[in-house]
Amino acid sequence: MPISSTTKKLMSKAAWHAYNTYRKGVSYRSQLSVTAALLNAQREDILAFQREQLTKLLRHAYQTTPYYRELLKTESAHISQIPTLEKRNIREQLEHLCSKAIPQARRIKNATGGSTGAPLTFYQDRNYWNQRNLSVYYFDRWAGWNFGERQLIIWGALSDVENNQDWKHQLNNFWRNHHWLNGFHLTDAAMWTTFRKMDRCHPQTILAYPSSLYQFAAFLFENGLAPKWDLKGIITSAEMLHSHYRSLTETVFGTKIYNRYGGREVGLIAMECAAGRMHINCHDLYLEIDSPNPYTTPGDILITQLNNYAMPFIRYRIGDIGRLSDEVCPCGNQLPILAELLGRSTATFRTRTDTLIHGGYFTQQFYNVIGLEQFQLIQESLKHCVLKVVVNAQWTEAARRYMVQKIQGALGADVIVTVQFVEEIPLPTSGKREFTISKVGVGRND
Ligand SMILES: [Zn+2]
Repeated sequence: MPISSTTKKLMSKAAWHAYNTYRKGVSYRSQLSVTAALLNAQREDILAFQREQLTKLLRHAYQTTPYYRELLKTESAHISQIPTLEKRNIREQLEHLCSKAIPQARRIKNATGGSTGAPLTFYQDRNYWNQRNLSVYYFDRWAGWNFGERQLIIWGALSDVENNQDWKHQLNNFWRNHHWLNGFHLTDAAMWTTFRKMDRCHPQTILAYPSSLYQFAAFLFENGLAPKWDLKGIITSAEMLHSHYRSLTETVFGTKIYNRYGGREVGLIAMECAAGRMHINCHDLYLEIDSPNPYTTPGDILITQLNNYAMPFIRYRIGDIGRLSDEVCPCGNQLPILAELLGRSTATFRTRTDTLIHGGYFTQQFYNVIGLEQFQLIQESLKHCVLKVVVNAQWTEAARRYMVQKIQGALGADVIVTVQFVEEIPLPTSGKREFTISKVGVGRND
């Protein structure tokens, strides 16, 4: 007999609490309420907390990392005088950026998938991850999520592309009360099945890649399907949320999108509130705009992550462009506001059999190819792709074959892939590097 949805919710809620206690210790509930209290506090209290965390981090960086010891020269350097941290600094100085006070065994390796800048490897610690998750729990509640509530996730899962029977993935979904639709491989059949399933089990929220969500919404719209239950909200993340994505999705699903802005390097940066403003997560980071006037002229976003003591990110140029606002938000929350967020986009590829493949699939496949410095994959037509690569001395013919095979595996064995070796891949005028560009993607040839 199937488990009732109330029982399932209670089971899942208990499992979430067990998981959090295991990960963060018995005090996690009080940690969550402390985080929430600060994020709900008055502006001056939030900023005072942030200043204190910043001072502690700068002292730690100076005292325990060779890179900042050399760079700062003094323990009491002011943040505005510290040179920005570029991705190439991390590539070249990775070991020197790591704190000597944190043993190697306690470092957690992570890497960007490459969709928001050149691929990059770095380290984080358990405290960073605990705090990152607490912030996600706090901000996702703005969209109606809570522990144990059913959620539909439309996300790119590499394991799903290759093996959708992975039992660990299935078990994880079961206890988290998640339903999964693979955003890297959206077929009509998968979208039909997912819609029918949603119609039975009524997820409270959806968490999605904007472009995958848009494809799903377009599919429902074209087929005259609409959710008939009360969906509380939709959380989008990891890419640019274009206004046409938002308008179609909000119409089809009859609910609001809450856009979440974050990065693997630094965690949750900002979250959209009910009044449609992006509030900056001042609990976990200090955000600056590299611009003569951050309130009027957009500039590069610089992030100082306040919790990652294994490898301090100070004034890190994340690769996105934004602008601040001095507005007081009508929603009542006093966290400062990020007024504009520009950049961050990956293309969607279409195959000859009309399957849509998320560009993130390729960035995830290629970010650790040995000898590859940079790449750009352009789908010129249904039959032809151009792969531009910047390579170093470690590059081999086997790497070239691997990349071509992955592209043909996804787009069709008869697709011609022209590999071009180039000195550099110039930045577009937006300043935003694009790893995947499709000239036949979603909405472009309909
Ligand atoms: Zn607000």
